[in-house]
Amino acid sequence: MGAEVVGMTGREDIATEERALCDIAHEFAKSRLRAAGAAADAGGAYPWDVVRDAIALGLGAPNVPESFGGAGTGARAQAAMMEELGWGNFGLAASIGASGVVAAAILHAGSTAQKECYLPRLAGADGTGVGALALTEPEGGSEMEILLSQDQTVRTRATKTAGGVRLSGAKRFITNGGQADVTLVLASEGEGGPKTWSLFIVESGDPGAISGRRIPTLGLRGSYTGEIQFEDCILTEDRRLGAPGTGMATVLYALSVARPMASSAALGLARAAYEEAAQYARERRQFGVPIITLQQVGASLAEMRTRLDAARLLVRAAAGELEAGRDASLPAAEAKLFAGETAVQVTQAGLQVLGGYGFTQEFPLEMWVRDAFVARIFFGTAEIQRLEIARGIQEGL
Ligand SMILES: Cc1cc2nc3c(=O)[nH]c(=O)nc-3n(C[C@H](O)[C@H](O)[C@H](O)COP(=O)(O)OP(=O)(O)OC[C@H]3O[C@@H](n4cnc5c(N)ncnc54)[C@H](O)[C@@H]3O)c2cc1C
Repeated sequence: MGAEVVGMTGREDIATEERALCDIAHEFAKSRLRAAGAAADAGGAYPWDVVRDAIALGLGAPNVPESFGGAGTGARAQAAMMEELGWGNFGLAASIGASGVVAAAILHAGSTAQKECYLPRLAGADGTGVGALALTEPEGGSEMEILLSQDQTVRTRATKTAGGVRLSGAKRFITNGGQADVTLVLASEGEGGPKTWSLFIVESGDPGAISGRRIPTLGLRGSYTGEIQFEDCILTEDRRLGAPGTGMATVLYALSVARPMASSAALGLARAAYEEAAQYARERRQFGVPIITLQQVGASLAEMRTRLDAARLLVRAAAGELEAGRDASLPAAEAKLFAGETAVQVTQAGLQVLGGYGFTQEFPLEMWVRDAFVARIFFGTAEIQRLEIARGIQEGL
């Protein structure tokens, strides 16, 4: 790790064993994620081996308790670890971290049998722990990520059938979509709006769960973004996560975990851009001096660093609320809003410090700028985060 980030890691309040996990994540990021992410961005085959190796190391779902084979890591340490993965590659961090989001939902709402079946796998026990959370549909994204309307917005249907339910519908823009081992699918069990929505566990190989295309994207090609179709996908009752109609409550909980974790990965991406720009500015000379001594370059780096530290404080505060067992929806929305904007601003400012070189594919800044855009979109757009925060204010929070 570069000397300039020592005071910025925010790990001081994290237990020693958990700090060791961050170190493992950083080493993995440096040795595997940087190269694999760049190759995926350039159009190479998707590096599932890297995703699976990370999950096997326990970096996907460190939040799984030790009793289920995980590290039992707290949310603040998990966030610190996600920052390291995001520093390596934002897209791969998203694909690896999906296991932790699925684990959080199963821990929150799953039966003992479901926990025993899925949590060890997500923690990396046997190489079948790639997770996915499938909410977004072709006709609706934002509607799935905030409980504002009572409308019938979830079009994927779960209809009763002998011994279980039949899923039909489609999900789009899903991280690891169609490729994951364990996918949580939000589906409607009736016409009554959100109180009829349930989450179902779909495993790879379930008949009728059909992988769709991989969606071409501007950036974040280190992540696999795909589609899934459900055609007569018959599931037994024990695949429902929690009671019928509790799906949206579990989704909102899962998002309160996912948002600080995705924000941490975005923060790691921004930190990588800051470090690259600071290093370049120390070495590049113009007008006979290193450009870091030019006031406007120095001021830009100062802005970048301050934003990073502020974003980290928000992200860790939201993770702290989770760790304390309190409702983290509002601080998670604040963290997501600010960290998303920070990722976009800091990567662009970093590119500018490199001048023409930043615009070339000889430096990673141009990829990082493209990757950063999605930090304002996935797990709820910036507009949806503002809505959530405004709703909290209305409720007097
Ligand atoms: C790379 C990538 C990975 C993703 N991974 C996942 C995943 O793993 N699982 C998953 O379920 N989804 C995933 N998504 C989907 C993502 O969460 C949605 O794209 C996002 O929620 C927005 O939905 P939408 O694209 O349908 O846009 P829309 O909901 O159609 O929104 C379009 C625009 O309108 C704005 N808007 C919508 N409603 C409001 C409102 N009420 N007030 C103000 N503005 C509003 C939005 O902010 C946006 O700017 C991913 C997306 C991407 C790009």
